[in-house]
Amino acid sequence: MEFSFLTLFPSLINAYFEDSILKKAITKNLIKINTINIRDYAKDKYQKADYAQIGGGAGQVLDPVLIQKALDCIQGEKYTLFLSPCGKPFLHNDSLRLASKKHIVLVCGRYEGFDERSIETQADEVFSIGDFILTGGELPALCLCDSISRQIKGVIGNPQSLIGESFQSHLLEAPNFSRILHLEKKFEKFSPPSEYSKGNHSKIADLKNNLAVLKTQYFRPDLYQKWKVTKRVSNEK
Ligand code: SAM
Repeated sequence: MEFSFLTLFPSLINAYFEDSILKKAITKNLIKINTINIRDYAKDKYQKADYAQIGGGAGQVLDPVLIQKALDCIQGEKYTLFLSPCGKPFLHNDSLRLASKKHIVLVCGRYEGFDERSIETQADEVFSIGDFILTGGELPALCLCDSISRQIKGVIGNPQSLIGESFQSHLLEAPNFSRILHLEKKFEKFSPPSEYSKGNHSKIADLKNNLAVLKTQYFRPDLYQKWKVTKRVSNEK
């Protein structure tokens, strides 16, 4: 699968792929990463990529013509995602769904963001990574790329790791504990559930499921309500 990042700061993107799981995924040809500097499509000597807003207001907006030129240069089938706080929240299901695309283009905003005409004419979808504002779209674009890449077969060494992860079936993952032998004293009063150490895998699975429900209820009451509805519907079938 191929990802192309349209950005004013390619070095921010490239650095992320210099280590760890996604570096291995590139080496194994499971994913391919391209960075495209939007500024390279500017013709003037200052390579201007942003303009003041019509109607006034603080901050510059990105030149829609440069973005279009950069997108037009990408050959073949592509699916274009714009990153914006005004987009729909990016969710686990979006990762699963988008992992079947051949080539995803991620358009990173900067300054005051995009000229609305860029989004209207070029975006297949627009995503936000949360109700807060970052200085640019590079981190959101990396978040999407990372999350989508994990769903591609072979990227995560042990595919079992993807099973029972948070957000499947609207639940958070149950608490995990490492097998570390020498703990500092302050951890002692938080001992892991004894059932975890007894080796009865079906009991452990039941307990983990119950703990996942409690954890979701505590930390994410919104997800817990969704889980309850899904469970009621499946019980009624
Ligand atoms: N003026 C814009 C607004 O209020 O909606 C914010 C612009 S922000 C400073 C610059 C760029 O960062 C955006 O165009 C977008 O690409 C990216 N960005 C910032 N926060 C984001 C978020 N929560 N989700 C996705 N992209 C975000």
